[in-house]
Amino acid sequence: MIRNIIILLGLPGSGKGTQGEFISRELAIPHISTGDILRKMIHEGGKDADLIAEYMKEGKLIPDNLVNKLVKRFILSDTCKNGCILDGYPRTLSQAEYFIENIDANISTIFFDVSDEVATKRVLGRVACASCNKIYNEYFDKPKKQGVCDKCGSKEFIARSDDDKDTILLRLEEYKKNTLPMIEYYKKQGKFFTVSAEGAIKKVTEEVASIIKKIWLCHIFLYYAVLIF
Ligand code: AMP
Repeated sequence: MIRNIIILLGLPGSGKGTQGEFISRELAIPHISTGDILRKMIHEGGKDADLIAEYMKEGKLIPDNLVNKLVKRFILSDTCKNGCILDGYPRTLSQAEYFIENIDANISTIFFDVSDEVATKRVLGRVACASCNKIYNEYFDKPKKQGVCDKCGSKEFIARSDDDKDTILLRLEEYKKNTLPMIEYYKKQGKFFTVSAEGAIKKVTEEVASIIKKIWLCHIFLYYAVLIF
């Protein structure tokens, strides 16, 4: 069966994670963030944990072969049988090519367009609840009650080790060198949507909501076209 996959592209801090969660709730398909999977692998301390931690701390991309295998396993698992949202993958042209050659999927792409300045400010203000991992932002999206997680009530928050000033500059460079060329690649594939992601979360979510309606209509159309022809 062909899986419906939505790829989220955009700078670190462009809102892919927040909007990915929204789309996941709306379409009832999982939100797969390669960054989250890799952080979990570091936390669990398996055989690749040290290597991944080293690359991540330096703002560099993890080698393609490791990430490709990881993502393929996730996508072909039962969890993603109805499709998924990919946040942070593919991130290089070679990953995109691997993906197309190895995974049968009906792909739509959403690009979150944001300036370096806004992305950097968002990344530097980002913290996560230490208990349930809900993401907040010191500048744009604080908990309702100061210092207390809205979701689970925990009072402990942590910043990601690669969300510091020096590493974000390296991550922006990596993005421009490796990920930006993929925008043209996915534009050519069709079903490519751009969101202006500089505004408040609610405003961006409204734009995303109207895009996923279009994506959903395309999926339904394709589903019936396959049945008929
Ligand atoms: P993110 O949480 O998406 O900002 O990713 C954090 C870090 O995880 C990146 O800076 C990379 O070191 C690593 N990473 C995440 N996704 C990928 C990928 N598709 N390819 C290589 N490295 C990745």
